[in-house]
Amino acid sequence: DTIGDNFDRTAAAFGDNDALVEVSTGRRWTYTQLREAIDKLACGLLSAGVQTGDRLGIWSPNTAEWTLTQYATAKIGVVLVNINPSYRTHELEFVLKQAGISTLVSAAEFKTSNYQKMIAEVRPNCPDLQRVVITGSDEWNALADGGAAPDRVRLAEVQASLGADDPINIQYTSGTTGFPKGATLSHHNILNNGYYVGKLCNYTEADRVCIPVPFYHCFGMVMGNLACTTSGATMVIPAQGFDPKATLRAVEQERCTSLYGVPTMFIAELNDPDFESYDLSSLRTGIMAGSPCPVEVMKQVVERMGMGEVTICYGMTETSPVSTQTRADDSLDRRVSTVGRVHPHLEIKVVDPETGKTVPRGEAGELCTRGYSVMLGYWDQPDKTAESIDAARWMHTGDLAVMDDDGYLNITGRIKDMVIRGGENVYPREIEEFLYTHPDVVDAQVVGVPDERYGEELCAWVILRDGAPELSVDALKEFATGKLAHYKIPRYVLVVEEFPMTVTGKVRKVEMRERSVGLLD
Ligand code: ATP
Ligand code: MG
Repeated sequence: DTIGDNFDRTAAAFGDNDALVEVSTGRRWTYTQLREAIDKLACGLLSAGVQTGDRLGIWSPNTAEWTLTQYATAKIGVVLVNINPSYRTHELEFVLKQAGISTLVSAAEFKTSNYQKMIAEVRPNCPDLQRVVITGSDEWNALADGGAAPDRVRLAEVQASLGADDPINIQYTSGTTGFPKGATLSHHNILNNGYYVGKLCNYTEADRVCIPVPFYHCFGMVMGNLACTTSGATMVIPAQGFDPKATLRAVEQERCTSLYGVPTMFIAELNDPDFESYDLSSLRTGIMAGSPCPVEVMKQVVERMGMGEVTICYGMTETSPVSTQTRADDSLDRRVSTVGRVHPHLEIKVVDPETGKTVPRGEAGELCTRGYSVMLGYWDQPDKTAESIDAARWMHTGDLAVMDDDGYLNITGRIKDMVIRGGENVYPREIEEFLYTHPDVVDAQVVGVPDERYGEELCAWVILRDGAPELSVDALKEFATGKLAHYKIPRYVLVVEEFPMTVTGKVRKVEMRERSVGLLD
């Protein structure tokens, strides 16, 4: 199946069901209406000369136009390139050139970003870029209307000519550990992954999924949009960017059954001063993913948000993204404390990063994934592809994991984040989980900083509850003594208001390490 064919089948089966709701503007589409809007835009793109295989960039926060563009390009085999809404000129220019983008669809502005101004600045340096369309402009309206005369016969021909293994999407990784890499993904990669994510959440056409995570990232466009459109469920967009109040309001107003977020988003919602005033009783399930999901936060999501069937997903852009997920019938303990078991039709293994040999259950090693979900490769970077996908098609994730006897996984951190203090391996994740048990700590991150004596020392960054007294190193030491081995107790504590984040809501530990060194001097 291609994404377009699959969408058409869903639209035929659930035509009158809500497909898409944009809460901030009150716009909504049934599946029949959305199909019509997508087909018109696809016709418009064809008549403007956009062709199968061309790269079309989308640089916009979460809007209905994002979703329309996602499906319209999929219908005609145009490779959609997701561009991070937080990028500035330097990064924009890099992506436009790297992916050879010929058409750019963009919002006019987002927060403090004036996209049009930035595009005008880089355009002279990007010879491939032939067309820039700002959503809402006359030019956009003409495209969205199908061009002069929508040619549906041609659309059907183009759609029928596509192959499920053709590239359809270039998604840049979050850039948590360095400069983002463009993962090239096929229909088959992301359509199947979206389908299985939806299946493991038990989605039906009765579900309404609140998606505050960016479409720019696979969490929004695959685990969100594609999981909905493969099952007839409704995509609900609460706001253009993440806003805890707008998210909670959208759940209440639209009676959402499912809510997504990276851990920091759920933390912000749970700590919102008005949290108790929202009616969240429609929530049944949801997904927390993207970075380590603290047990305490998961428990609160179950208890205070009523998301009894909430699941945790683990994955990466390069694997479409999801590789493992908890199931609604797993024990509560496993659902809050593991990333679940391998997804249907995929393989995983945990290996010694040095020797490549599979390690015994219960021991930490590098997690590897194989199967339909593994990307075609990094766009135009064969060397980088060869570094991460081996000859047997195993994707080496760079993540450390432990698998138990029943196949449940724990992610213990990234290989790059592991701290070696005086010869002892310390997994920051374990210390962060411990810090969450402190009554005044709202959020915590631990990084290693260079130390002459021990090689590295632990530095904890903490966000404290409003009105909590300052947390000193000595107070933390006292709290941890007897509970943590001495070498795992952070030597430094930095109390901050927020962490440096990527737009996908991940903490940039590389930057924290660098900044810690400066702050501790
Ligand atoms: P880059 O590759 O550019 O440094 P990134 O790895 O953060 O950035 P993504 O592909 O968005 O880019 O994120 C995948 C990574 O997120 C995984 O490799 C893993 O480290 C982390 N991750 C995802 N889900 C989970 C989870 N449930 N628990 C722990 N870590 C997770
Ligand atoms: Mg990565």
